[in-house]
Amino acid sequence: MTKTSSRLELTNILADILKATDPSMIPKVAYLTQGKLCPDFEGVVLGMADKTVAKALERAYGATPAEIQTLLRKTGDLGDVAAIVSRDQFQQALVPEKLTVEKVYASLDAIAKSVGGGSINSRITGFAALLNCASISEAKFLTRFVTGKLRVGVADYTVLDALALAFTGEKKNRGLLEKAYNLTSDLGFVAELLLTKGIGAIAAVKAIVGKPIRPMLAERMDSSESIIAQLSSGAVAEYKLDGERVQAHRSGNEVNLFSRRLDRITSHYQDVVESLTQVESKNFIVEGEVVALDGQGKYLPFQELMHRRRKYGVAEAMKKYPTSFNLFDILYLNGKELIDEPYTVRRQALEDLVKRSKTVDSSRLLVVPARKVTNSEQIDSMLQEALAAGCEGLVVKDVVSPYRAGAREFAWIKFKPEYRENVRDTLDLVIVGASHGMGRRAGRYGTFLLAAYDKDADIFRTTTKIGTGFTDLNLENISKTLQKDKISEKSPRVDARVSPDDWFEPRLVIEVIASEITLSPIYTAGLGLIRPESGFALRFPKFTGKIRTDKAPEDSTTVQELLEMYQSQVRQFKAEPKAPVKTSPLKQRRQKV
Ligand code: ATP
Repeated sequence: MTKTSSRLELTNILADILKATDPSMIPKVAYLTQGKLCPDFEGVVLGMADKTVAKALERAYGATPAEIQTLLRKTGDLGDVAAIVSRDQFQQALVPEKLTVEKVYASLDAIAKSVGGGSINSRITGFAALLNCASISEAKFLTRFVTGKLRVGVADYTVLDALALAFTGEKKNRGLLEKAYNLTSDLGFVAELLLTKGIGAIAAVKAIVGKPIRPMLAERMDSSESIIAQLSSGAVAEYKLDGERVQAHRSGNEVNLFSRRLDRITSHYQDVVESLTQVESKNFIVEGEVVALDGQGKYLPFQELMHRRRKYGVAEAMKKYPTSFNLFDILYLNGKELIDEPYTVRRQALEDLVKRSKTVDSSRLLVVPARKVTNSEQIDSMLQEALAAGCEGLVVKDVVSPYRAGAREFAWIKFKPEYRENVRDTLDLVIVGASHGMGRRAGRYGTFLLAAYDKDADIFRTTTKIGTGFTDLNLENISKTLQKDKISEKSPRVDARVSPDDWFEPRLVIEVIASEITLSPIYTAGLGLIRPESGFALRFPKFTGKIRTDKAPEDSTTVQELLEMYQSQVRQFKAEPKAPVKTSPLKQRRQKV
């Protein structure tokens, strides 16, 4: 499957695998195909260190540390090393016991759960025992799995397609599965429910306190006039705060916090947990932005909040960088799901929730300022007010819209000052490759190859090289982080026409700005959408200093968004001679196919 890049092919292969799997193992297979043991929000990270894995290889195959290190230097991948040393053992005709999914899952689960004193040794023993039963290619992939380098390219939505195909016979049921997944973010749960209770139960899935809901996202627009025209049923403008998005779940006295990419981050914000336990209602799911405060209670920029993302010294950081939790939505309250309620009903419920909590320190738990807007002047003046308060802009919301889990639509529209001044919005792009620097940057990476996400194909397509905006410290940190993701050849999930010195698993997302989106034959994002054999490229790209740890690679700027930005640029400047202003590029693509 590592060499298969067509999504359709992948779906069919996966559907066949699922059909041939014992039903009781299907949820586990769903997680394993994604290189996971359980959904991300459960916070189980296998991530064995390379050193520990190398020790397990020594123990399983009787190789010496020097042999392993020489092979690692040669291949650059412990998975390849495992294949080589296990092949040597196979030549000695040792016939292993056959591995089953059940055994693999149980062993990996035990390894993941072994923490604390003596855990390294038990991890080595556990993994060596597994390797002893593995064939050559199994040894390779298991090694990549435990080091977090197994990327078979199966995105969440491909698994949903495969489930629909395998167990309902029709891909069209994928819509229902997707809705259930958006509400629970748990592929194994969806798979199990489908198998045990059928598609009817899938259709009836409701939000569950404790399982994060996939976030609703905003589209961007560049003028207050167009926002008013778009939201004809009525609009409310809210401050857009520049902090970290958090979804909070409370059940009884237990509070859990989830990040934008649905990782469990409860321990980062104990002060938020404390505020929420003082709320009168004990059963709710709310969403908001955690923002660092200065001594006078003014919002501080996002970078200040990052001081709170740490494993050690949490208590001191909490005192030095206090936060406020600024709520902007409520999705569940006292046993009732509110997702399908219109914005106005949810907003009222949110205000009531906070109002009824008299004991809460009012500067720590707030509802984001919001105002009804009926014309563009009101939006523009509220934008000025939000900027003066230290916000990045506004999010203008459709008053009749439900909460659309997992969707980026015009029911929420973000509006920042940059949009009006014709400077492009920031882009969040994935690093897929890098080349070594020269001069002062020798020995480190100097330029990075960045890609946007093509959601339809589940592929990362390149759009720029970037080398400006980085401090020496940035470069050092990024180069260090990337070492973990280094791979010997281009990932099958990456589409590129250039060859950097090193390739990486598409994982690290950084924020960049650029003066313009142009067309270039070198890049593959949106290839042929506007001009045959050209993709979207960035002019004067610059790193903003923000590493978007809160975004998964699949949350990065999409090719579709690049297309929309390009079109909006053409509309504004009317300066791209060959750009088809009247005909939609999407329409052109459809005609071509
Ligand atoms: P950006 O990079 O601009 O923050 P994003 O890609 O992270 O955008 P979007 O959906 O495009 O996410 O923009 C909405 C984001 O703005 C939310 O994810 C949230 O973190 C933040 N935000 C701040 N204030 C609000 C608000 N009042 N309502 C909704 N989202 C808000």
